[in-house]
This record gives sequence, structure tokens and C-alpha cells, in this order.
Amino acid sequence: MAIERTLSIIKPDAVAKNVIGKIYDRFEQAGLKIIASKMAHLSQSEAEQFYSVHKERPFFKDLVSFMISGPVMIQVLQGEGAIAKNRDLMGATDPKKAEKGTIRADFADSIDANAVHGSDAPETAAVEVAFFFPGMQVFNR
Ligand code: UDP
Repeated sequence: MAIERTLSIIKPDAVAKNVIGKIYDRFEQAGLKIIASKMAHLSQSEAEQFYSVHKERPFFKDLVSFMISGPVMIQVLQGEGAIAKNRDLMGATDPKKAEKGTIRADFADSIDANAVHGSDAPETAAVEVAFFFPGMQVFNR
């Protein structure tokens, strides 16, 4: 399987719960390398742009409000099949439906405050990585 990069966000609920390190540990245990990271408090326009694919969905306004409610931790993960691997680690969108041992099952409270974001395909991963880390410096490690 190819080495891929994917964008991950630890959302405001999980940052507030002080579980950044616990979530990073899951990435590392799964063989994913954190090759870029930053904490940020998104502006409304950044959150709207980032989630623009969802702008017609009924939950869009609440999603944007939630994503700007506090700081988030944003990282690029690299590894074999990183996109699908990260989605497996995250679990289902609704934590009630997420498999035991996944990040959302263990750290999320609800479908809207669901702890993490992860790119869902190579095309979105490329766009999302460039959105937060334009001209990213690449480290071989
Ligand atoms: N979301 C929500 N209500 C819904 C569906 C989604 O609040 O009924 C939010 C949730 O935070 C989710 C995000 O919108 O993580 C993006 O939705 P998507 O279906 O892409 O889920 P994901 O890829 O994050 O699992």
C-alpha cells in the first residue's frame, strides 16, 4: 500500500478534555507519523471554507459554531494507507455507533462534538493539507 498523507484535526471538545496526547499516541501506535502540527483557533471564515462541501447540509451552521468554539489541534499524518488507517482509528461519525476502542467511541460525546476530523479520500486529503499547511516543509523521519 502507498505511503499517504492525511489531515487530522483534534476538535475543540477533545482539546478541552485534555486528550491531545492520548489521541497522538493512537496515531503513533498505528504507525502513523505526525509530520506537521499546529494549534489554532479557527475564524468563522476559515471554518466555513474548510467545511464548504457541507454548506447545504442542515448541520452546517452548528458545525461551524462548534469548530470555532475553542482551539483545535491540526496535524498531517503520514504512513502506509494513512487516510483509511486514520478513519479506522477515528470510528464512525456518530460516537454511539463507533466501534469500541476507536477515538470517537472513547473520547466523543455526540455526533456534532465528535473529537476528530480526518480526510476521507486522497483528493480531499491533498486539498485539506494544503489548506492548513501551504508550502509545508517536509521532514524525512
Ligand atoms: N455532523 C453533524 N451532524 C450530522 C452529521 C455530521 O454535526 O448529522 C458533523 C460532524 O462533526 C462530522 C462533520 O459534520 O464530523 C462532517 O460530517 P461527515 O459526514 O463528513 O463525517 P466525518 O467524515 O467527520 O465522519
